[in-house]
Amino acid sequence: MSYENIRVVMIGTTHPGNIGAAARAMKNMHLSDLVLVAPQTKFPCGKARARASGAIDVLENTRVVDDLASAIDDCTLVAGASARLRAIPWPVKDARDCAEEMVVASNESKVALVFGRERSGLTNEELERCNRLVHIPANEAYSSLNIAAAVQVLSYEVHMAMRDKEKLKLHVANDYPMSTAEEMEGLYQHFEQALQTIGFLNPENPRQLMRRLRKLFNRAQLDKMEMNILRGILAAAESPKKPREKND
Ligand code: SAH
Repeated sequence: MSYENIRVVMIGTTHPGNIGAAARAMKNMHLSDLVLVAPQTKFPCGKARARASGAIDVLENTRVVDDLASAIDDCTLVAGASARLRAIPWPVKDARDCAEEMVVASNESKVALVFGRERSGLTNEELERCNRLVHIPANEAYSSLNIAAAVQVLSYEVHMAMRDKEKLKLHVANDYPMSTAEEMEGLYQHFEQALQTIGFLNPENPRQLMRRLRKLFNRAQLDKMEMNILRGILAAAESPKKPREKND
C-alpha cells in the first residue's frame, strides 16, 4: 500500500480554481501525485494557488501533459470517474470498491484515478483507456458532483481503504508484475495488425471489434507473462509455422 503510487489525473479542466481545490482535497487525504492533461487555462496560475490553500506543494509538483496516454503510461490500473452510466457498456465499480482495489494494486505499481471535463466528462476514447469506470453513488436525478468534490470523495475512500490494512494483507501477490497501460496499447496495436493479416478484421468495416477486445482485456488485467504469451500467439498467427509432429 502506498499513497505515492496513487495518481489523480484531471483532463481538460476549465476552471483553474477546481485544480487548486482538487489539490487541497488530495493533500487532506495524503495524496500528492496530480497530473493535468491539457488544462483549458494556463497553469501554474494564481486562481489555482488561491484555492489550494496549504496544498501549494501538491500544485508545485503537478505535471502538465498533452494527452491521457502520457499521464497513465506507467500505470497498471486506471479507473475513470464518471457521473453517469454510458451508452458503451464498461465495467463500473462504486467509489468504495474501486478505492480498495486501487489501494491493493498500489502495493506493487502505479495506479490512476482519471477525472473528466466539467462540462462533458470523459470521451469514449478516454474511457477505452480505463480498466473500469468508478461512480460515486448519488441522487440519480442529479448525480454530477463538482469535480473537486468528486476528487475529495474518492481521495477519502482511498484513505479509508489504506487504514484497513489487515484486510488488504490477505490479498495474494501475483507471481508476475502487471502490465502497464503503455504495454496494453502495444498489445491492441499488435492485435489490430495481426487480425488484419489473418483476415479476421476488415479495416473497411471494423465494427466494434477493437472496442470489444479492449473491454475484454481491460477487465481481465494481464500480467507480464500473460502479455508475452498473447504477443507470441499473435506473432505466430501472423507468420504461421508448420504444426509440430507428435514425436518432435
Ligand atoms: N456533465 C458531465 C459531468 C462532469 S462533472 C458528465 O455528464 O459526464 C466532472 C467530472 O467529475 C466527471 O467527469 C467525473 O470525473 C467527476 N464526477 C462528477 N460526479 C461524479 C460521480 N457521481 N461519480 C464519479 N465521478 C464524478
